[in-house]
Amino acid sequence: MDVQGIRSQFPILDQEVNDHPLVYLDSSATSQKPLPVIEAMNRYYRENNSNIHRGAHTLGAKATDAYENARDKIRQFIGAASSKEVIYTRGTTAGLNLISYAYARSNLSEGDEIVLTPMEHHANLIPWQQAAKVTGATLKYIPMQKDGTLRLEDVRQTITEHTKIVTIAHVSNVLGTINPIKEITSIAHEKGAIMVVDGAQSVPHMKIDVVDLDVDFYAFSGHKMLGPTGIGVLYGKEHILEGMEPFETGGEMIDFVDYYNATWKELPWKFEAGTMPIAEAVGLSAAIDFLWEVGLENIHEHETKLASYALQQLEAIEGIQIYGPKERVGLVTFNLGNLHPHDVATILDSEGIAIRAGHHCAQPLMKWLDVFSTARASFYLYNTTSEIDALVEGLKKTKEYFSDVD
Ligand code: PMP
Repeated sequence: MDVQGIRSQFPILDQEVNDHPLVYLDSSATSQKPLPVIEAMNRYYRENNSNIHRGAHTLGAKATDAYENARDKIRQFIGAASSKEVIYTRGTTAGLNLISYAYARSNLSEGDEIVLTPMEHHANLIPWQQAAKVTGATLKYIPMQKDGTLRLEDVRQTITEHTKIVTIAHVSNVLGTINPIKEITSIAHEKGAIMVVDGAQSVPHMKIDVVDLDVDFYAFSGHKMLGPTGIGVLYGKEHILEGMEPFETGGEMIDFVDYYNATWKELPWKFEAGTMPIAEAVGLSAAIDFLWEVGLENIHEHETKLASYALQQLEAIEGIQIYGPKERVGLVTFNLGNLHPHDVATILDSEGIAIRAGHHCAQPLMKWLDVFSTARASFYLYNTTSEIDALVEGLKKTKEYFSDVD
């Protein structure tokens, strides 16, 4: 993979921050955007901007085509059978809330269980806590191994005939664990539960095939996969989506409206109320082209190499505590002795190195790790081993800087 060639497509990376070359190690929070994405959105606004599905004019037709062609590209990208199963959302959070409101609240009742794990992002936790409160269902957690992985025996023990929804991140945004979604889905289905997957950290980094995984819902965000903010996707099996009432109502999603009643458009538009993120769909489509061109397999391999190099280099720093399993995606979460992760991130920033510090929207996981917060460096297709070297040097300087404080 030609990383330097790839980097040349990301203008933002070519800058100094605090008099040092920028080292961007925060792609799990959001990825940077390559020129083809920026240019596709720019061109859309310069040449084709119009509202979709309504205008009886040429620009309206062009914008509609761009929006619907992007949907079909996303369908191919995740291996879905029909574009009826590809619903545009604002992001992973919005997709998971859609299921919680439009599916869980009308399909759960007292005694039912929602099964999840302690490694869930708040986006895949709070919508279920809220649905459980309203319906009387209960939340149940699959226990994790010490290294932050799941054992299928524990999955089998936790999911019962009372389980109606199993909802798990494909990849943990803190530990980097890759969960065995296909196997868990099969266990969930044996017990009659549906399988929901938070794909925020998987879709950008590995090839996903929703049909092969057999999942019922799969949610992800455009901004973590080289696309713009404000757009995401919820994949849902057609027969399940057909059986659901709309989540948001209003313009665009209706078929016929009378004073006291309305009927809905067919899928997927039934779930797309109001003016949708059209330019963002165009940007996301360009992002997929970029990912395809580089190749998801190559990206995954590059990141895996970066992660093992980073683990090796970081482990050599005295006093560092690294969280998560050996086999992981391209991210490393750690604490440096007793130093507060925010202090670590601040010193690194003064060296031009961007990492994330905090609870990473996973407070129950912080409790499980028995820490308040951690630092996290995350990698993507444009990162290099010399950037990891810069991180290691930066951490050594941070230790020196605080050496009196200990
Ligand atoms: N789930 C996971 C695992 C995530 O990492 C994130 C983003 N940090 C989300 C959900 C939420 O994504 P968004 O903010 O784009 O809705």
